[in-house]
Amino acid sequence: MNDVTIIGSGPAGLTAAIYLARASFTPVIYAGLQPGGQLTITTEVENFPGFKDGILGPTLMADMQAQAERFGAKIVYDVITKVDFSKKPFMLWADKTLIESKAVIIATGATARDLGTSAEKKFGGRGISYCATCDGPFYKGKKVGVVGGGDSALEEACYLSNLCSEVILIHRRQEFRASPIMVQRAKSKSNIKIMTPFTLGDALEEKGQFKGIKAKNTATQEVIDVPLDGLFIAVGHTPNSEIFAPFIEVDAQGYISTHDHVKTRVPGVFAAGDVADPLFKQAVTAAGMGCQAALAVQKFLEH
Ligand SMILES: Cc1cc2nc3c(=O)[nH]c(=O)nc-3n(C[C@H](O)[C@H](O)[C@H](O)COP(=O)(O)OP(=O)(O)OC[C@H]3O[C@@H](n4cnc5c(N)ncnc54)[C@H](O)[C@@H]3O)c2cc1C
Repeated sequence: MNDVTIIGSGPAGLTAAIYLARASFTPVIYAGLQPGGQLTITTEVENFPGFKDGILGPTLMADMQAQAERFGAKIVYDVITKVDFSKKPFMLWADKTLIESKAVIIATGATARDLGTSAEKKFGGRGISYCATCDGPFYKGKKVGVVGGGDSALEEACYLSNLCSEVILIHRRQEFRASPIMVQRAKSKSNIKIMTPFTLGDALEEKGQFKGIKAKNTATQEVIDVPLDGLFIAVGHTPNSEIFAPFIEVDAQGYISTHDHVKTRVPGVFAAGDVADPLFKQAVTAAGMGCQAALAVQKFLEH
């Protein structure tokens, strides 16, 4: 029987583990298919506090894990495939292995949706990004593209327009799904140019470096070259909450709904990080929620 089982080993899960292990609760963390979480697939992280020269994503996550293990946290390299939160102790399965736990922290993150293009396969993380807040500052004064038609795409375009010389907003339909106010805001920016209705083709490249994208006008079938220094794909995220949804509340997009910061509707089951955060999705906010979840678990177990 575990006191507390943490599902996910990104910044939320590992921060929760550090706090719980220091408080002598011996948390058991299931690392999932991506041990260390999303930051393990990026290079420089420049906005995690405490690293004035930045730090490599994989190094940051390896250090977080070592910090949790130093205090006694136990990492299991397995995936939780099924849960039953309808009775206590809570039951979790890693394939056929049953795990019983008094408390659970869900920290399974949210996966950025891609478009499945060959350009993304080749230049993901090297010219094509899924997070303007994370990577926008690398493109200061440069020309970038943003792909998408929802609120988050328009918000990313507006954010980037304050940093970049020019932002090309590319959307496959004539009309935007985003709220009219967001569309108005984007249209009012002199350095945002809107391209509709266009879909993406192959990347433009020079000596293996990303130089832009081919785009097809779906009304005229004309294909044009769009030279760019970087491209941001902003077509949403999928929260990794599917297996928990029958027991806890999730919103229309699948993000776990919480009250009192990190509590789900099942007492003893907590959620932290991107899986419960449709808004911010940053390493430091995930870590903060992990800390909150750990402190809430301590209170729950003590009472
Ligand atoms: C390319 C890239 C660059 C980024 N750059 C920055 C940046 O510079 N600064 C910044 O602040 N943020 C950045 N982010 C965002 C940041 O990585 C996330 O906000 C943060 O990692 C969220 O942490 P998390 O712990 O909630 O989830 P994640 O990091 O997504 O971790 C989720 C964990 O859950 C595990 N998991 C999922 N399902 C299961 C399961 N069923 N069983 C067991 N384990 C499971 C996964 O294996 C993983 O370990 C970037 C994201 C990406 C993709």
